[in-house]
Amino acid sequence: MSMLKLIAPLAGWATRLEEVPDPAFSQKMVGDGIAVDPTSSELQAPCDGVVVSIHASGHACTLRAATGAEILLHIGLDTVNLRGEGFTVRVREGQRVKAGEPLISFDMDLLARRARSLLTVMVVVNGEGYSIASRRQDRAVSLGEPLLEIEGGERAPEEAAAGATAERAVRLLIPNGLHARPAAVFSRHARMHPGSVSVANGGRVANGKSVVALMGLGAKHGDTLTLTVQGAEAGQRLQALVDLVSSGLGDAIQPIVETPAATAPAPRASLPVALTPYAPGVPALFKGTPAAPGIAVGIAVRVLETQLELTQRGQGQAEEQRRLTHALTSVRQEIEVMIEGESGAARTEIFRAHLVLLDDPDLNDAALQSISSGHSAEWAWRSAIELHVGMLQRLENALLAERGGDLRDIGRRVVALLTGQSGSRVPENLPDNAILVADELMPSDLAAVPPGRLAALCTAHGGPTSHVAILAAGLGIPAVVAAGDSALRVPNGAAMIVDGERGEVHVHPSAELQSATLRSLAERATRREAHLARAHEGCHTLDGRHVEIFANLGRPGDAASAASQGAEGCGLLRSEFLFLERSTEPTEEEQTAQYQHIAQALGGRPLVIRTLDVGGDKPLAYLPLPREENPVLGLRGVRVSLRHPDMLRTQLRAILRVKPEGVCRVLVPMVTSAHEMRAVRIMLEEERRALGVSTPVALGAMIEVPVAAMLSDRIAREADFLSIGTNDLTQYGLAMDRGNPHVAAQLDGLHPGLLRLVASTVEGARKHARPVAVCGGIASDLRAAPLLIGLGVDELSVSPAVIPGLKAFIRTLSMSQCEKTARQALELENGDEVRALVTSTWPGL
Ligand code: PEP
Ligand code: MG
Repeated sequence: MSMLKLIAPLAGWATRLEEVPDPAFSQKMVGDGIAVDPTSSELQAPCDGVVVSIHASGHACTLRAATGAEILLHIGLDTVNLRGEGFTVRVREGQRVKAGEPLISFDMDLLARRARSLLTVMVVVNGEGYSIASRRQDRAVSLGEPLLEIEGGERAPEEAAAGATAERAVRLLIPNGLHARPAAVFSRHARMHPGSVSVANGGRVANGKSVVALMGLGAKHGDTLTLTVQGAEAGQRLQALVDLVSSGLGDAIQPIVETPAATAPAPRASLPVALTPYAPGVPALFKGTPAAPGIAVGIAVRVLETQLELTQRGQGQAEEQRRLTHALTSVRQEIEVMIEGESGAARTEIFRAHLVLLDDPDLNDAALQSISSGHSAEWAWRSAIELHVGMLQRLENALLAERGGDLRDIGRRVVALLTGQSGSRVPENLPDNAILVADELMPSDLAAVPPGRLAALCTAHGGPTSHVAILAAGLGIPAVVAAGDSALRVPNGAAMIVDGERGEVHVHPSAELQSATLRSLAERATRREAHLARAHEGCHTLDGRHVEIFANLGRPGDAASAASQGAEGCGLLRSEFLFLERSTEPTEEEQTAQYQHIAQALGGRPLVIRTLDVGGDKPLAYLPLPREENPVLGLRGVRVSLRHPDMLRTQLRAILRVKPEGVCRVLVPMVTSAHEMRAVRIMLEEERRALGVSTPVALGAMIEVPVAAMLSDRIAREADFLSIGTNDLTQYGLAMDRGNPHVAAQLDGLHPGLLRLVASTVEGARKHARPVAVCGGIASDLRAAPLLIGLGVDELSVSPAVIPGLKAFIRTLSMSQCEKTARQALELENGDEVRALVTSTWPGL
């Protein structure tokens, strides 16, 4: 066993890896080691060794020491985004270096401004067989000072120095890439060699003896692998391994066909096949998924999928990298100009998310890797996009899969710019009341249309939570998505009615149907005007019972519009919007800024922020959670937060820092027992004291699990308020997955059993004089409102758009009638009976 001593590669503060705000490092996924917060700007070799790889962006390199240990040195966090700017690499791959020799110099000022952190990480990446014998951390270190001792390695330093190094490149010819089985074959052979074996692909290097590391290379069909063998008989060993790879490692091989000016396949599997259009003048009706509310009468404008022609082969790595960087910068500028001066609106946030996607390190890495294997920038970018779209789709999470549309959108913009083709698919001259009909629409299609020019949207694909649907709702235009081939049969110029509430689309509707629809739209508008006129007044029943009407918010941009529609506060901010679809955790500052922005938009009204509700079917890219058989019954909501208390504390601190003190309340999701509330309370109070916040912050529990409703008195003892999440309560109460279409029809929030759980929650809360809100979907259903009020619920937190009408309806109710009807509803057998009871009691509904 040999000992490798590593000296400090930078002067600065040596800190433990667990402190690095990037789970890949803090959870030691990359390897074990140490981090340095640097005060010097030249990264030096921590030991004698060979430079086995330098990252294409110049921000990281890997050294192999004589003991075989491979040391990754990674300057700053997310610095791959700088794409080489600010870094000067002082060595080349394969070069032997002595401890203390310069490896990479960097511009400290630029990094301080542009990188997420300067923390520089030094870890052993081929950890198998090595362990850290000592480390000096939590202290200032000067350059060259001893920092780490790594025990292990197969050969003594002298032996390794004596052994030769041999290196060869070989193409991977397995259609499925270096997956588990061939990786295992390779590692088995590599292990027969007493010296070290490494495999490099693009910027990544793996220990050839580790199956996991080899799979982590992401090597695909056609990639060029660089094999390096060190030690006795290195040349012979290398030849044997090269032969093994060339022969397919036990898999069938498929030769690479190089097509110098080949055209890439279309990004979607196929273009829509020609379908028979609906016959002129013959009324037709089809259904899709309602995605944005409203009804519109208008004229179809077909948006056709166009195929951008691509050249596969590049003009050399440096030139293609330059082209890609230039295209990314131009697209970034185009988007920045488009959203300049806007803030908070859904549209701005969507395009801000596109800016983040443009900078995504994994996406950029994948594109750079493809460029380094000889591809053009446009080919590389589109392959990287398709790779990531595929990854999202494989997650089997509808929400994330719908984000594929955003990736394809930025993919298209960048490729259009690189190839000088037009990225916009919407015709410039739109008729009045244009209804866009497409296979799938992308956010940038809508961004290109001047406001007020569109009446509605209808697409064959896409989902109701896609960003296009959100944009449509923001523009106030109805949308029906996922209508399948029927949508593609609509001829250009056909008269249409799109009903974004029922998901119905009429093609060639009769003149009578068109005028009846226009008449009912006008009546609806008059009613809404009247409701809006009183939306800002408080909401009391006829006999004076005050019911608070709050809004549910899922994005910062909705707050101002919710307030303008009469919301008395936000009863549920689903803070996931800040966490999902990111590759890194949002910082405390980022979170505070967003919450502050929302608090301001609410103009001093209370803001209930739900702590992160992820896990199960809502995975976080940067938070490794175990794969579960039944994710909905597994690590979700507060269970995840209590397993990752640092993440929860960061969010609590961010909430506590919002001004004015006390405007925010904290709501904990998926509470099952009182002890979870006690645990969160302790953290909240500790952080409050540490921040010197003197105003107590209210802490609420979401009641979404049946036992929590039954033991609500126990939970209410530990909470300042309760808020019933009927979406999950229905799912868990009826044992029906809320995302499962086979049981969607029976998933009824008005089931009397669920109303009994609401009654039980209110009863438990009353014992401790705690207010109860309902923030699940049924609160927005006018037929549920009188029952919930009758059961004693104090607050309804609803979709902003229903607030004016809901307030108007509650003003017509009497408490005694609500209580009586609620008591009767508890005795019924199913949701249909409950609805019949409500509509017979209040016939206007
Ligand atoms: C609920 O479950 O009712 C709820 C409001 O939370 P979500 O829909 O975000 O799970
Ligand atoms: Mg829920």
